[in-house]
Amino acid sequence: MEKLIWSRSKNKILNDCFRKYYYQYISQNEATEFQTLKKLKSRYFFKMIVLKNSIFNMITDYLYGFDIALENYLDTAYKELSIAIRTDSFLFEKYYNLNNKIDFLAFSVELANNLKNFYNSEIFKIVKSKQLKDVIIPTLEEDIGQFDFLDYTIFFMPDLIVDNETSKLIINFFYDITRENFDDYLAWTMALSYLFVRAYNIAEFEKLVFINYSLRDNIFKQANYNERQISKKIDELKKSIILMQKFQNETDIEKFYKTNNNEICKFCNFQKLCF
Ligand code: SF4
Repeated sequence: MEKLIWSRSKNKILNDCFRKYYYQYISQNEATEFQTLKKLKSRYFFKMIVLKNSIFNMITDYLYGFDIALENYLDTAYKELSIAIRTDSFLFEKYYNLNNKIDFLAFSVELANNLKNFYNSEIFKIVKSKQLKDVIIPTLEEDIGQFDFLDYTIFFMPDLIVDNETSKLIINFFYDITRENFDDYLAWTMALSYLFVRAYNIAEFEKLVFINYSLRDNIFKQANYNERQISKKIDELKKSIILMQKFQNETDIEKFYKTNNNEICKFCNFQKLCF
């Protein structure tokens, strides 16, 4: 039997709204219109993809000996984001006719600021002091990917793994996170990174240093390997898995309650079905 999938985005939807979870992961509705709703992606998603690609290019270019000016990355990133926003048929804002209300110029400035922050960051300085063999970008590795936990396949990869002599730095980037949920995010990435390191036998646990870097605010937090904190978050992961299992064979839509939080609805693909 094919294993079920757990991911942070799936878990977020489960926490945000059960009805949304039903539409996204349980419903068997094959109608084209419904399938379109499931595929919608907001401009923030495209920004995150462009940011990731640009950062990975900055790192690999530098480690391969090319010291390319920041302006070149900004120019390419801006073009990529503009093309995605103009041409993608599943853009959330286009589908819900929000394009006129959005300041895309300000949005592009945010993208540029995020990239500038990384380019001048302590993290990039550390990476630049390393050799190619010391830096792993899991998403670019062919033989690294998801891993198993209980009956689930976990979709999670740290953004960067850096060999720093006596420690192994496990680095994750935050894209639009606010300072308020930074600590919780650090705890999640710490636990998931730990499971990832364990699955691929990457380093001794005592050597792990987890770093979360916020591209928006240009700040980072770090934490050493802490078994107690990690176990606490793994317990949360287990609870999330148990809840997903409970819902897996439930077909009655009324069992999936709608959220009362309008802020969540505002960015939901399925608002057309609820209002
Ligand atoms: S519109 Fe609101 S209530 Fe409806 S599925 Fe989305 S988040 Fe849930």
